Amino acid sequence: MPILVQKFGGTSVANAEKIKRAAQRAIRAQQQGNQVVVVASARGQQTDELIADAKEVNPNPPKREMDMLLSTGEQQTVSLLAMAVEGMGHKAVSFTGAQVRMMTDDSYTRARIKSIDGSVIKKKLNEGYIVFVAGFQGMDDEGNITTLGRGGSDTSAVALAAALGASFCEIYTDVDGIYTADPRIFKNAVKMKQISYDEILELASLGAGVMHSRSIEFGKKYNVTIHVRSSMNENEGTYITHEVPQMEGILVSGATVQKELTKITMNGVDNKPGISARIFEHLAADKVIVNDIIQTEISTEKANVSFTVSKSDMLTARETIEKIRGQVHCDTVFVREDIAEVSVVGVGMRSHYGVANIMFKALADLKINIEAITTSEIRISCLVDIKEAMKAYEAVCNAFELDKTVEKRKQPK
Ligand code: ASP
Ligand code: MG
Repeated sequence: MPILVQKFGGTSVANAEKIKRAAQRAIRAQQQGNQVVVVASARGQQTDELIADAKEVNPNPPKREMDMLLSTGEQQTVSLLAMAVEGMGHKAVSFTGAQVRMMTDDSYTRARIKSIDGSVIKKKLNEGYIVFVAGFQGMDDEGNITTLGRGGSDTSAVALAAALGASFCEIYTDVDGIYTADPRIFKNAVKMKQISYDEILELASLGAGVMHSRSIEFGKKYNVTIHVRSSMNENEGTYITHEVPQMEGILVSGATVQKELTKITMNGVDNKPGISARIFEHLAADKVIVNDIIQTEISTEKANVSFTVSKSDMLTARETIEKIRGQVHCDTVFVREDIAEVSVVGVGMRSHYGVANIMFKALADLKINIEAITTSEIRISCLVDIKEAMKAYEAVCNAFELDKTVEKRKQPK
């Protein structure tokens, strides 16, 4: 019998009615001939509430204790789900992450899964149970409870699917699937039928809050197709899979806009070995997360280095740069606050020319200045002034016809 893993996010189990609906869905999947494993998140906003509780007794709580506390949210959900299923006359059992030996490293609050022992779950599945597993948590080698980072239940689910040899993982959430653009900004965004792991990873790194990134890495590595869909209806959602040939015919799958960014430029640093290493070593030591980096030489002696950081890291980054600018003989530092990054992502750009041009022209037509450009194999990003960000984003979405389903777009040359 095939094994199906279903994951229910916090909004899909927020109250008794929704828990019962999730329970029914699991039962139906079992009746359709699957062995069913369900991973669940904490109900509603419970994780946030638990964090607030912790801060009330200690503004700086030990991370180990945070994990002890936060893991209880998911434990409540799975026991309630199992009770609901039993109440409907079917066999169900719930487990914590530790009970199914979801082994992680010991980095509390952001642990990484090392291994999962599927035997406990398989035994129960073979006895006809629907098995519920608390998401977001595991255990280190010493038996301490760990959590996987916010949004980590996605990763629990896909990792479990991989460990159990399941080829599908359904992610039930409060949206219909993954959209070509942020529908709050670009109203005509449409749901994608499918998207590749690489594209989703790229979109996630651009701040599109779709899925926990580690879950996509697991899916890609272990060949688990992830189906993101609504818990409120029966509609097909979006399939996240390996790249298939049809995807090549799509120039751009999705677009994002990231605000809250600052660009820092160091003009005229020494153009010789070790300079960038020195700059970024100091930024790393000060725990500044750097997004895009651009370096170009402007003469045989001098180079310009610029990079973007999130606004919250701006002050630290500036201090770091002030500390070391003398060492690298930087002439001037230019800080550009209030910048936004508009990006498009698509595997089709590997094999088509003119993609960047479509984007640049859309911005040029609106007389929007591009402050910097960065690219990867499947991404193009433009920095623009924050005041023009929304206009720029919409123009780019329209230029790539992200308001249309793939079949209705003009065929790329
Ligand atoms: N409950 C956790 C959170 O809110 C994990 C999850 O929902 O995936 O981040
Ligand atoms: Mg989530």
